[in-house]
Amino acid sequence: MIEELKKVIKGEVKDDEATLQHYSADGSIFEVKPKAVVLPQGQEDLIELVKFVSQQRKMGNEISLTARGKGTDLTGGPLSEGIIVRFSGYMDKILEIGEDYVRVEPGMIYGELQKELAKKGHWIPVNPASGAFCSVGGMVANNSGGTRALKYGNTRKYVKSLKVILSDGSEIDTSKDRIPQADQLRLILEQHRDLIQAYTPHVTKNSSGYALADFLATNDITQLFIGSQGTLGLIQGITFHTIAKPGEEGVLLGYFDSLSKAGEAVQRLLPLKPSALEMVDKHIIDLIKTLEPELAQDISERTPEIILFCEFDGANEEEVLAQFAPARRIMQELAFQVGEAIKPPQEDRLWKLRNESAKIVTHMKGNVRAVPLEFDCTVPVNSLLQYIEMTDKIFKDFGFEYASWGHIGDANFHIRPILNFEIQEERAKLANLVIAMYEMVGQLRGSATGEHNDGIMSTPFLYLTYGQDMVDLFREAKKIFDPLDIFNPFKKVGMTVDHFNRFLRKDFKNYYSF
Ligand SMILES: Cc1cc2nc3c(=O)[nH]c(=O)nc-3n(C[C@H](O)[C@H](O)[C@H](O)COP(=O)(O)OP(=O)(O)OC[C@H]3O[C@@H](n4cnc5c(N)ncnc54)[C@H](O)[C@@H]3O)c2cc1C
Repeated sequence: MIEELKKVIKGEVKDDEATLQHYSADGSIFEVKPKAVVLPQGQEDLIELVKFVSQQRKMGNEISLTARGKGTDLTGGPLSEGIIVRFSGYMDKILEIGEDYVRVEPGMIYGELQKELAKKGHWIPVNPASGAFCSVGGMVANNSGGTRALKYGNTRKYVKSLKVILSDGSEIDTSKDRIPQADQLRLILEQHRDLIQAYTPHVTKNSSGYALADFLATNDITQLFIGSQGTLGLIQGITFHTIAKPGEEGVLLGYFDSLSKAGEAVQRLLPLKPSALEMVDKHIIDLIKTLEPELAQDISERTPEIILFCEFDGANEEEVLAQFAPARRIMQELAFQVGEAIKPPQEDRLWKLRNESAKIVTHMKGNVRAVPLEFDCTVPVNSLLQYIEMTDKIFKDFGFEYASWGHIGDANFHIRPILNFEIQEERAKLANLVIAMYEMVGQLRGSATGEHNDGIMSTPFLYLTYGQDMVDLFREAKKIFDPLDIFNPFKKVGMTVDHFNRFLRKDFKNYYSF
């Protein structure tokens, strides 16, 4: 079959062992070996690929297409036993920069795009911690977020339209074309408006499931493809809306000796509308002290339980300082120490304490480590303290320590369990840990994922967030757009706890840290 495939497309087709090993991994704890990797040269190749795979599927061959940008996903989203379609390589260019928009190919690196937009004083302010090395296609497919989502929102907010190759090999432009699949889906969803309204999590960030509520609200099919993790089609072009970059920004740091005081600070800081409100916990602080001592100069001698980072932006320094004043008073009242910076290099150095966390946890050596089974749950902001307490209890019950950091202003944390992964009994507890966490988050009416998306990690447990009736609607959506199940199978629909356990890696030999 691989030989036939090579005849069909102009781009590269690889199935040597080293390539397959490399593409068996992403940023997650999962490992899945593909059959082949294709680097398409453009739209024509993508169409031929889809037609080829559909044909094979009709003949009963278990083959599929899973898109991949830079493979930094934290859920196993770009992993598959089928064919991997890698966009970075040939399809990674800027096509046009306009007054307030940019047209790009999906393999483009977000950080590189930001540099180009900055020349015109513009940006797409999503800012994921992986921005320097992840692709915009991956960001759209995951509805990625970042430190400034609090003020500026996730990727969804900046996508104007998409060009997508559908399962019949047709190409659509979501800003122009009316497609029968969208009409068909809308008819079904309209009959379930109340269900969708009731069971879509009431959170400020959500990347879980299909965005049925957004599609219904806007009648724009673009909304459905965003965050669908490549399960409904291959994105081959993106038009982003860009906005003017603020002239100045500054950050206040509060060092807290208790979670409850930090929680109170968050509730009081939020009405001041910071552009970012972030945190790192004491485990991360200890890791920074050990692994990145040059960053530790800004950490107080008395190790805090939690550091809060509160950023404000504005047209100039005066605007930022005016916003600092009430926020500083709150920090001084509740934190045992307060720091601040408005200009580089101090400002960059302070932010580094937060921004390096995602990378620092991957640098732990030895058998006991923060494993990349990274929770990314979001709960309603008024359930923040309850969520923190219940998380702590669940991890204690399982006998695991954890490291946590992230977007406290959106009640969206990244939490990694710390355990000895070499011990089979420890590994075997992970599926139940995931179930306990998602059950608790579902009870709080939160979402399993605020930005990382579902992948292998949360697809099997979507019913805990949404309830079974919504999961059935997701299945309908998938069936309408991808009746032969050729796009990224099992993600979003059909993944079981057995897949979760089967794909869980056994060791970290083939894992690359970013
Ligand atoms: C150190 C580190 C820090 C991170 N920090 C953040 C963070 O702050 N915020 C955040 O949201 N995430 C973060 N992530 C997760 C990850 O970087 C993001 O999800 C990122 O957007 C993925 O981009 P990628 O190019 O690596 O996509 P990949 O991992 O290659 O793919 C991601 C998903 O998108 C699909 N996909 C990719 N391209 C296409 C396409 N053209 N058409 C259809 N589907 C496609 C894939 O099938 C897959 O399901 C972090 C990861 C790491 C390792």
